[in-house]
Amino acid sequence: MTNHLFSLVRDGIPAPAKTVIEAHDGRRYSYADLVARSGAYAAALVAAGVAPGDRVAVQADKSAEFIFLYLGVVRAGAVFLPLNTAYTPAEIGYFLGDAEPTVFVCDPARREALTEAAAGIRHVWTLDGAGAGSAADAADGEDGATFADLPRGPGDLAAILYTSGTTGRSKGAMLTHDNLASNAKVMVEVWRFTADDVLIHALPVFHTHGLFVATNTVLASGGSMLFLPRLDPKAILALMPRATAMMGVPTFYTRLLKEPGLTRDVTGTIRLFVSGSAPLLAETHRDWQARTGHAILERYGMTETNMSTSNPYDGDRVAGTVGFPLPGVSLRVVDPETGAPVATDEVGMIEVKGANVFKGYWRMPEKTAAEFTADGFFITGDLGKVDPKGYVHIVGRGKDLIISGGFNVYPKEVETEIDGMAGIVESAVIGVPHPDFGEAVTAVVVGAGDAPDEAAVIAGLESRLARFKCPKRVLFVDELPRNAMGKVQKNVLRERYKDLYGQ
Ligand code: AMP
Repeated sequence: MTNHLFSLVRDGIPAPAKTVIEAHDGRRYSYADLVARSGAYAAALVAAGVAPGDRVAVQADKSAEFIFLYLGVVRAGAVFLPLNTAYTPAEIGYFLGDAEPTVFVCDPARREALTEAAAGIRHVWTLDGAGAGSAADAADGEDGATFADLPRGPGDLAAILYTSGTTGRSKGAMLTHDNLASNAKVMVEVWRFTADDVLIHALPVFHTHGLFVATNTVLASGGSMLFLPRLDPKAILALMPRATAMMGVPTFYTRLLKEPGLTRDVTGTIRLFVSGSAPLLAETHRDWQARTGHAILERYGMTETNMSTSNPYDGDRVAGTVGFPLPGVSLRVVDPETGAPVATDEVGMIEVKGANVFKGYWRMPEKTAAEFTADGFFITGDLGKVDPKGYVHIVGRGKDLIISGGFNVYPKEVETEIDGMAGIVESAVIGVPHPDFGEAVTAVVVGAGDAPDEAAVIAGLESRLARFKCPKRVLFVDELPRNAMGKVQKNVLRERYKDLYGQ
């Protein structure tokens, strides 16, 4: 047996000398470096007593070494567990206690602060954003080029990614070798990646988007990546003429649109712009096309499912939709109460089945059982619909659904109306406890200089939406709270305004 996931990378190497990653400081790493260095990490892990199935948790800044460590963990037959760099020591303590890794790798600057969180972990190593630390030192002592990959089958675990957990504790999504390998192959095929591609990679690598969608797709095609530590619009523009593709969250596109340097010329070598992880406003899609001539390709996925749908490479990339189910993915929309499929264009719960769907939540068999249907579909928690042309539309998270006076209100419908008004930049519509209605539809809005006032927004909506959908209050803010992936944090807004109606 081979190592299922790493074989995909190994088999896709076009030439050992080919560059795989160019770091932001200009350092270049070849595919030969990738094999040798990931082999060295794998050897160091095995020497430290890491056995197949053991977890290796990593909270470290983005670097090429981070990617080689990830591949080293996979090659050692272990399970890679990346952790958001924003997590506090208390949060890290929870993840380490839950996952019980054999090795924990952290930033040297945080080593001391994490002492208590990491108590009881067999090995605590370090790695910084420049690729230095005791983990790198351990790898330095090994001959990585000759490391023999530990055999792992398609169903064996390759990674655990904790979900962002906006309600309750984060859950560890268990991803198998084939979840990741099959999805990477599909992305290469549908997005036409080849060894000639050069991807601008400015996403974090602790999240499924940067680690799997972006990195695995490039590695499986033998292409190259230009690494930036974070979203930096000017640095992205400087790299643009050397690249053929970029993957980003919607914030990438809105921020780049604010740069006068974003032109048709500067994006001339790019063949593909992909957006995902949060809804891309139709307006951003239109503005991007007007400025650059490129139609952003929007896709939909989640930690638990990898990528599930994508707008077409050829054919219409329809703004406000996430396209069609990917090859090998079955997607259906059902009534959340009865589980019965709903009609075309009707909103319901999105369920997904396929090789892309994770194995379950780490050490949570009841939670896992509750999130799957009897016929093996994963209940995504996202509400959406399929239109007559087969395009999937995401309406929002099920838990964001507002029930006001007994009526269901889909925030997206109200947000779309508000966002379409002159002088409005964007909005988030939430349900806030209300003595009369149970929940009151409440809009939190970012206005431009000439924004209408609260009364004008409400008056404007009354002619367009049923009365029960109209916000009771419209609150203006300078910006909406967002997480690292650009998702609006509605839980933060619900908490902030929970006493608005005096309950
Ligand atoms: P994560 O597990 O952090 O990747 O978050 C997954 C969630 O992000 C999904 O369940 C959706 O709610 C949301 N999401 C991802 N892609 C899109 C998209 N293109 N449009 C709207 N929501 C999206």
